[in-house]
Amino acid sequence: MNPLEDLVAAYRILAEHGVIDAYGHVSMRSADNPKRYFIARSIAPEIVQVEDIMEYDLDSNPQDERGRESVRERFIHGEIYKARAEVVAVVHNHSPSVIPFSVTGVPMKPIYHMASFIGDGVPNFEIRKVAKGTDLLVKTPKLGAALAKTLGKSSAALMRGHGSVTVGENIARAVGRSIYLEQSARLQMQAMTLSKKVTYLDAGEVKASAPVQDYKRAWPMWREKALAKAKADRR
Ligand SMILES: [Zn+2]
Repeated sequence: MNPLEDLVAAYRILAEHGVIDAYGHVSMRSADNPKRYFIARSIAPEIVQVEDIMEYDLDSNPQDERGRESVRERFIHGEIYKARAEVVAVVHNHSPSVIPFSVTGVPMKPIYHMASFIGDGVPNFEIRKVAKGTDLLVKTPKLGAALAKTLGKSSAALMRGHGSVTVGENIARAVGRSIYLEQSARLQMQAMTLSKKVTYLDAGEVKASAPVQDYKRAWPMWREKALAKAKADRR
């Protein structure tokens, strides 16, 4: 089995869940060389195949370009891998429900067990602190490093007026966190609309549930469906 199939599946799973649009991406650290990572060329996520996956060093230089176009925001991935040795997968997306939290100062809170990692904190990256008048894209090493610094030890960070990033020590976790960060944002907004008093997970519940929430029950099913679609697309 080609290990890059996990990454192909991740792209298609995130597209299927509406988490990454035409511009989101997911990467995976190389199992053979921790100073390398894989990410798809600039292409719509729902049609990614193994041959679209490119290899980069942690400065985000392509290793085997063969005329393929790199995604401009790849520095998000390279710089997070540099800063977080235990991180094996990174997702960057523009999923819509988290955006309001990135621009209002209203903090995301752990509203349910599926996204209890939010209880460990979701920092917000303000690109203006690093550079003024940008197009908001993290397309330089400097911006990537600043985002990695904002992320710190967290599982997710918002990016003001742009999107978010989630990480995991395996690909199931990084993908699951992106899917459930979006759903959690939507649920929190709904709850806040219903009542001023919302009961969130408390610190003890976060501590008990966050480490066990690995999305490993969902991952094989998501993966199988996504790879069946990838195979069918070749016909
Ligand atoms: Zn982006």
